[in-house]
Amino acid sequence: MPRTLAPFPGMAVAADPRERAVVEAAPKQLLIGGRWLDGSKGATFPVEDPSTGETIAEVADAKPDDALAALAAADDAQAEWREHPPRERGEILRRAYEVMMDRLDDLALLMTLEMGKPVAESKAEVSYAAEFFRWFAEQAVRIDGRFQVAPNGQGRLLVMKQPVGPCYLITPWNFPAAMATRKIGPAVAAGCTMVLKPASLTPLSALAVAKILEEVGLPGGVLNVITSSSSSEVSMPIIGDFRLRKLSFTGSTEVGRKLVEQSAQQLLRVSMELGGNAPFLVFEDADLDAAVEGALIAKMRNIGEACTAANRLYAADSIAQEFAERLAERMGSMKVGRGTDDDVQVGPLIDEDQRSKVEELVQDALQRGAKALCGAERRSGPGYFYAPTVLTDVPDDARLLKEEIFGPVAPVRGFSSEDGAVAQANDTEFGLVAYLYTGDLGRAFRVMERLEYGMVGLNQGMVSNPAAPFGGIKHSGFGREGGYEGIQEYLETKYCAITP
Ligand code: NAP
Repeated sequence: MPRTLAPFPGMAVAADPRERAVVEAAPKQLLIGGRWLDGSKGATFPVEDPSTGETIAEVADAKPDDALAALAAADDAQAEWREHPPRERGEILRRAYEVMMDRLDDLALLMTLEMGKPVAESKAEVSYAAEFFRWFAEQAVRIDGRFQVAPNGQGRLLVMKQPVGPCYLITPWNFPAAMATRKIGPAVAAGCTMVLKPASLTPLSALAVAKILEEVGLPGGVLNVITSSSSSEVSMPIIGDFRLRKLSFTGSTEVGRKLVEQSAQQLLRVSMELGGNAPFLVFEDADLDAAVEGALIAKMRNIGEACTAANRLYAADSIAQEFAERLAERMGSMKVGRGTDDDVQVGPLIDEDQRSKVEELVQDALQRGAKALCGAERRSGPGYFYAPTVLTDVPDDARLLKEEIFGPVAPVRGFSSEDGAVAQANDTEFGLVAYLYTGDLGRAFRVMERLEYGMVGLNQGMVSNPAAPFGGIKHSGFGREGGYEGIQEYLETKYCAITP
């Protein structure tokens, strides 16, 4: 049976006035064609604070009719929006960036209330989310094409880039603002209209971002938002409709696979940002202090609920025990609690399902012979808290080496050679991100080139950057968000053959 810790002291039960105020200020209706509307059936669903299990808001529950109305609004707005000057599209995004930064504290508190992460991390996410608007504000005016003299010297080749058309954007609960702006930013910059469907667990941050875009002058119908307690029921009619031109999804591999199948009917342009199983390699020549710091970030950012979270930590045999012990000392002393409290470093997991899954993976590893250096227990009382956990002696067949943990659990294993480290790192169907720590430049390049991942962090525990192409290979999906590549996902290439 899993052990439980006593509830931590001083936990707020009733929302304080500021918490109430930010929740009240957030929109809770659907945004369709520039109007905030209740769903066609007038239904709502609850949004919970995962640190208390209490309902903090009720939001409109869209049905298939609403989904099609949102798509129709996006389709109606498309012809005019694509003609909107790129400079103005960029300036709308730039103003949205400014407003998000002005409201950083309130947006961060709202995010913590619906998602649970500590406020300091929510602030970091709001600022990361806003940066996508700033980056794509700058990209909107840099959409270019090509003019070429044909090789035979007679014809001319003109290549132009044009907006794909109406897009459907589906986002997960773990980064409720950034996963939305990472899609909305390039779509707006490219001249596409869209329907956004945030996760039902965390709809408020995305609705707040939509309201900001409306305030700064995004024309009605360009961004439509539907929130729903039945994501498949509202998504299927949109994905099956010929007016839709693109689907961009961030979420689990399992759901991504279903959506790729559904999108095949309309042969949609598709971007898939899916699950990860990141390895974190520490070689004997690494700076161990830096590696422990990096591991803390790679593991504990977002309470371990990140697609980029270090899922498997491998250290050279000669340093593995010391690395694990130092990591356990740091993780074991992190303060767990409600994310609104200033000194809290680890918030709750998103819901009971997620906590039970983490607990099940840890129990499975322990039963197969792993040892816990810290944690391996849930907290009793309200909220879905789980203690930061470091495991050693994790056997090959432990499920958490194969599955995405999505929680504050770090399994540490040893390796005896560079080849062995790379082989273990690549032994997964996922391919989002890998991390390595080494002081040897030759080894750094050899290993970076051999890692089968879309992204690699060298001597750093975080790779996310709006200026960089974020994305995976293998079962972590395809397509890139951010960087120069991000806007290309929302552009079609048209070639014109010209006889002068
Ligand atoms: P999820 O269960 O796949 O859900 C993601 C989104 O899809 C949510 O909006 C969800 O809505 C919706 N959805 C679920 N089933 C659907 C269906 N049948 N049709 C249409 N939409 C559907 O993932 P999650 O639990 O929210 O997020 C965690 C996963 O996301 C992890 O695997 C993580 O690695 C991945 N992730 C990847 C990246 C990346 O960039 N690669 C970034 C962040 C997260 P409801 O929840 O309301 O049903």
